[in-house]
Amino acid sequence: MGSNKLSRRNFLKLVGGAGLFGTGILAAGCSGKTAGGKGWIPSQYEGTGNWQAQVKGRIAIASSNVSIERNDSKCILCGQCIEVCKKVMSVYGSYELPLKKDIPCVNCGQCSLWCPTGAITEKNNITDVVKALEDQNKYVIVQTAPATKVALGEEFGMEPGSIVEGKQVAALRALGFDAVLDTCFSADLTIMEEAAEVLYRLKNVQNTLPQFTSCCPGWVKFCEYYYPDLLEHMSSCKSPQQMLGAVAKTYYATKMGINPANIVSVAIMPCTAKKAEAKRSEMNASGKEIGNEHMMDVDLVLTTRELARLIKLKQIDMTNLDNQEYDSILGESTGAGKIFGVTGGVTEAAVRTLYYYATKENPPASLLNWQEVRGLKGVKEATVDVPGFGTVKVAVCHGLKNARVILKQVREKKSPWQFIEFMACPGGCIGGGGQPKSAVPPTDDVRTARIASLYKMDAQQSKKRLSYQNDEINTLYKEFFQEPLSEKAEHLLHTHYQDKSNLFTAKKDL
Ligand code: SF4
Ligand code: SF4
Repeated sequence: MGSNKLSRRNFLKLVGGAGLFGTGILAAGCSGKTAGGKGWIPSQYEGTGNWQAQVKGRIAIASSNVSIERNDSKCILCGQCIEVCKKVMSVYGSYELPLKKDIPCVNCGQCSLWCPTGAITEKNNITDVVKALEDQNKYVIVQTAPATKVALGEEFGMEPGSIVEGKQVAALRALGFDAVLDTCFSADLTIMEEAAEVLYRLKNVQNTLPQFTSCCPGWVKFCEYYYPDLLEHMSSCKSPQQMLGAVAKTYYATKMGINPANIVSVAIMPCTAKKAEAKRSEMNASGKEIGNEHMMDVDLVLTTRELARLIKLKQIDMTNLDNQEYDSILGESTGAGKIFGVTGGVTEAAVRTLYYYATKENPPASLLNWQEVRGLKGVKEATVDVPGFGTVKVAVCHGLKNARVILKQVREKKSPWQFIEFMACPGGCIGGGGQPKSAVPPTDDVRTARIASLYKMDAQQSKKRLSYQNDEINTLYKEFFQEPLSEKAEHLLHTHYQDKSNLFTAKKDL
């Protein structure tokens, strides 16, 4: 490089904040199709050549970001992180410069999936978990999200979508966790509350319809950033991760005779945004119960990738482990809880129970295989007739750019829907930012394989497919909550949201 030019090292320093100052040269576009389905895939990777010609900049990541971080020495300024943040999530470039108080980030971690060099990763919490496991005074519980069960195996050479639920349980026991619980249990619990909530809104407060799902923290933060005027539509239900955390340090602790202050609650998630969700100041309902507001419901979150690293670190032979079952209690789940991990799954699960709440009858077979809400199309719509109640219209979207399409209609009061599911990541949580990088960037083939496995777990491997048939859930209500939306349930299982629009100035007409 000539003396009149910047050295590569200094150039890297200069553009390190490209996202912050808007100096990055934008990456080439996606393949030119819409953001949904096949259009997720970028058309770049032009190959080697003059590196300066390929520099496209990179996103800026705040040092305070609790979900992701970047090792600048690995960054080649390829611009893939910008590509996904802008074209799929519609976050990068959605704000005026200069920024005010925050570098906008919904914590989804998609950039870490697309980064070809591994420069962007999740914030590492493996050491914290190991420390907790080695502390004899702590009772360390762990929960596993549905999407991890069809992806963890990929880190050990298995085919995309391999179902490793039982092996994952065995691996966690081998690591020394005191109890292995299931986020699918609390997905069923979420459905009990969320379906009751939508029924309440349908009957009593129609002006707060459509009801938005709230189990994806990436989506929730996106709404808080850009659509705070629509937050009244957001379900007050906490996500399954946080519901299990709150129940574990209250009901479970009492039943097991454990001091909740001695519990370390760990979650294995496909998601980097879950690390941020666990740290939200509102997520301390169990702590408030015992007068300790510093005690959080969930203490530590590991991504699927981090769990794989921990298993390898401890030299556990994952592939040869025998399947094991979850602990009881907080370990039983239905097929409805399992499909939470795919786009459309929350809607399908919720409508199955909504149908039951409204009619006191089990839903028809069509709602156990609801094709209209399935698949990788970016925005999906469907209707369901609930006898004696009427027609309920639903919409489902994934990828936050697609969310804007729907939100525009809601804002303009042109929405025909009563219930809308939003998932930040393409494909839903199976394509989460903490999942194995089995293809870089992620492909629809990998997503489709994982999706098929979760539907298989629902349709072929679950004895029950309806959340209200979960015996442990019914016992929980009988012994503790009494009924969905009870005062205790409101306290432990529901939350509120914050208008975050003042942290930066969002561009208009996004
Ligand atoms: S995707 Fe990774 S390597 Fe490429 S610019 Fe972003 S951080 Fe750097
Ligand atoms: S879609 Fe799932 S993995 Fe992605 S941010 Fe939302 S909760 Fe996390």
